[in-house]
Amino acid sequence: MQIRRLKLSGFKSFVEPAELRIEPGLTGVVGPNGCGKSNLLEAIRWVMGESSAKSMRGGGMEDVIFAGTTGRPPRDFAEVVLQGAAADGEELEVVRRIERGAGSAYRVNGRDVRAKDVALVFADAATGAHSPALVSQGRIAAVIAARPAERRQMLEEAAGIAGLHVRRKDAEQKLRATEANLARLDDMLAGLD
Ligand code: ATP
Repeated sequence: MQIRRLKLSGFKSFVEPAELRIEPGLTGVVGPNGCGKSNLLEAIRWVMGESSAKSMRGGGMEDVIFAGTTGRPPRDFAEVVLQGAAADGEELEVVRRIERGAGSAYRVNGRDVRAKDVALVFADAATGAHSPALVSQGRIAAVIAARPAERRQMLEEAAGIAGLHVRRKDAEQKLRATEANLARLDDMLAGLD
């Protein structure tokens, strides 16, 4: 996926609505320590469906919401919008919003979707929240120290086939439900004899 625009509001240190245009080619983000550079990468990962509070450097999922400073009250929601083009060239807009006490919700091209649907969109585009395209601090050392199974997972993400595991699990669940229904049907038919 080609990311063209990132909009943040109330996300971590980005209390005011901020919009970043990402032009083709190399983009560099520079700034003093603690100004929010890593928070940008986290915003991309978060809108892609990151659900682990640890990899978002927080204790709970609501920790992504601006927590307030001495002069500014905390916000009660955080929203990140990612706009770009999917691999097939189609326009894609993904929105994730979290409100205190109300959890988070996603929209893809204006339609409410589940977290799983968003994860599949990015897994198929080989740019998911865990994709090797997003390299955060400490990640290189983690790759070197990874166990073979973890390394395989990274390769699958890079190859864009990670979404197949989710689909396989879904298909297996449907198969089990169908088998249970068939068994019930057999019982009912036996009762009719
Ligand atoms: P470095 O160059 O040191 O790695 P950085 O530019 O990558 O720094 P970040 O780590 O992205 O900076 O930003 C850290 C800042 O974000 C800190 O000032 C921290 O207080 C602020 N921050 C993180 N979460 C929140 C939050 N929920 N509410 C308010 N501010 C937050």
